[in-house]
Amino acid sequence: MKTLIVIGGGAAGFFGAITAAQKYPHCKVILLEKSRQVLSKVKISGGGRCNVTHACFDPALLVKNYPRGHLELRGPFSRFQPRDIISWFEKRGVILKKEEDGRMFPITDSSETIIECLLEEVKRAGVELLIEHAIVDIQAVNQRFFIKIQNGKEILGDKILVATGSNPKMYSLLEKLGHTTVPLVPSLFTFNIPDSPFLDLSGVSLEDVTVKIPQFKLEQRGAILFTHWGLSGPSILKLSAWGARELHASEYRAEIIIDWLPEISNFDTEKLLLESKNKKGAKCVSNDSLFNLPKQLWKKMVSLAGISEEKRWSALTRKEIQVLILHLHATRLNIQGKTTYKMEFVTCGGIPLKEVNFKTMESKSCPGLFFAGEVLDIDGITGGFNFQNAWTTSWIAGNSLFD
Ligand SMILES: Cc1cc2nc3c(=O)[nH]c(=O)nc-3n(C[C@H](O)[C@H](O)[C@H](O)COP(=O)(O)OP(=O)(O)OC[C@H]3O[C@@H](n4cnc5c(N)ncnc54)[C@H](O)[C@@H]3O)c2cc1C
Repeated sequence: MKTLIVIGGGAAGFFGAITAAQKYPHCKVILLEKSRQVLSKVKISGGGRCNVTHACFDPALLVKNYPRGHLELRGPFSRFQPRDIISWFEKRGVILKKEEDGRMFPITDSSETIIECLLEEVKRAGVELLIEHAIVDIQAVNQRFFIKIQNGKEILGDKILVATGSNPKMYSLLEKLGHTTVPLVPSLFTFNIPDSPFLDLSGVSLEDVTVKIPQFKLEQRGAILFTHWGLSGPSILKLSAWGARELHASEYRAEIIIDWLPEISNFDTEKLLLESKNKKGAKCVSNDSLFNLPKQLWKKMVSLAGISEEKRWSALTRKEIQVLILHLHATRLNIQGKTTYKMEFVTCGGIPLKEVNFKTMESKSCPGLFFAGEVLDIDGITGGFNFQNAWTTSWIAGNSLFD
């Protein structure tokens, strides 16, 4: 009987082990997890609700959510995509619901539902789950693998599926098997802007702004959230993901430029401000929010433009209007650090994608060695894309091991 050893009891390890055990019923599947707790990231994911996937069913669009991995995941997503994981869970009685922004959660709003389902399936598929089994060495001999466990035990496998997430220790073992490692750096974080004039607006959000980091040629449009340490929200998290490497190299110091009115041109902004000047005469500028901006933000913009709080529309000078336009379309702030986003964070870096065959997820340098999940140099933006990578790559590996 052939033996598959799956290393890592996270989403990718569980799903790979279940898939393989179902596809190859005459094969022994052993799932090894170093800690006592399996699926610990699933448990805390999505604030305890587990954002399982994203309601994006076109592989060509889906890949656009992966700063690293977009080219390589195109083929895998045409074989196993969000629709497939939704129906996989549904067949096992776990219904996922879609939120307005496309994120998908179990209807119970509890990650325990996902954990219970995966534990049940592992049992049903006959996978042997061994916790507190940390792998400390892997040797490939005659197309078989000798796995050494921290407790001194050795296990022999015909194939191995490595799904150890971003555990740095694992990479040195994989380097002995002929792989290299793309350096690990964090992705998905919020920006610290200690000298931001908006810190007292913490909790206020805007639906549609454009944020740019010109020195790295990065730009995103979408929602933003003021925090008491700087900025957060979907557009900031996307910037952090696409700029993960550059921001790390700059020690998280960069200038960010915000256009609060991306819908309107500078010309139209000026037109509206001049109209207000002509029509609103004695009204106080700072108390008369325009462009549907939250009142506090408008007040802040007026003050940043050096316009006094009591200034009336009729007294507004051309110069003041120009400075106000500048702030409305290009507020400049200095990022001076990052803060982990508690709802979801990932590591960028890992096994280089060119070293893996994405039709099978097998290593190109070490036959019999397969990869799935975050151990690879793949990461997605926030919204369920990181789990989808785990489901898809482990499904492909689990279906290819003994073919
Ligand atoms: C707080 C937080 C919230 C998140 N929320 C979401 C979300 O809602 N949606 C989403 O899509 N993504 C989310 N993510 C990202 C997502 O959790 C990961 O991308 C995903 O868990 C990766 O799965 P994985 O199985 O590849 O790795 P992991 O989940 O990291 O699992 C790897 C497993 O391998 C084990 N292991 C490591 N080394 C060894 C070893 N030497 N021997 C044996 N076992 C080993 C580890 O203990 C671990 O259990 C979140 C991440 C965090 C940190």
